[in-house]
Amino acid sequence: MDLGALYQEIILEHNRSPRNHGELPDATGHAHGKNPMCGDEVSVWVRTAGDRVERVTFTGHGCAISRASASMMTQALTGKTRDEALALFQHFHDMVTGAGPADEAALGKLKVFGGVSRFPARVKCASLAWHAFRDALAGGDHDGDPAS
Ligand code: ZN
Repeated sequence: MDLGALYQEIILEHNRSPRNHGELPDATGHAHGKNPMCGDEVSVWVRTAGDRVERVTFTGHGCAISRASASMMTQALTGKTRDEALALFQHFHDMVTGAGPADEAALGKLKVFGGVSRFPARVKCASLAWHAFRDALAGGDHDGDPAS
């Protein structure tokens, strides 16, 4: 089986039909991020209840990787505790930057983005929504480039 083609198909499918797409009126946090290298923009809304991430949504435009990454991220984070969500952020970040061995069990389907670590220009496409999520999780409204 050609794993590369399968992964590409998953990414293209999420780009065509993004999950949890739209604003979240009762969000507890929101952040906006830009990737000037590629022209990607993403807004992420988070609603937490106590320690749990109840809902994550996004809007944005840009390349297929940035949109698919945001879409799959919203699915992966929904229902997680704050600590689990931040741990997943770290696993994803380590995988796409090549900073450490990917924890495949923790990442699940998100490992389709593992290939971007070989393309430095694409790392920000894949991680943009995650940085925005981390800022949104902190609460309030963050406009501008999420810190890396
Ligand atoms: Zn991009």
